[in-house]
Amino acid sequence: MIRSGVICSACCDTCREWKEVDLQALAQVKGADYDLWGKRTRCRITPGCKGWNRFYCNGRGRLEPMRD
Ligand SMILES: [Zn+2]
Repeated sequence: MIRSGVICSACCDTCREWKEVDLQALAQVKGADYDLWGKRTRCRITPGCKGWNRFYCNGRGRLEPMRD
């Protein structure tokens, strides 16, 4: 899913913070074919936050939620 110009961000449902996802670093950890679609993860934006991070991608010119 790593394509040039695609920027993915994580948004927390609790602290409402945004953080850009480093796709290159993620690919190194999870593998090149790892897909953020439909995934959620415990908040990694604010230390101590118990919220969930959802992923959004701007691949088609606007930020879209990465889930069905
Ligand atoms: Zn949070």
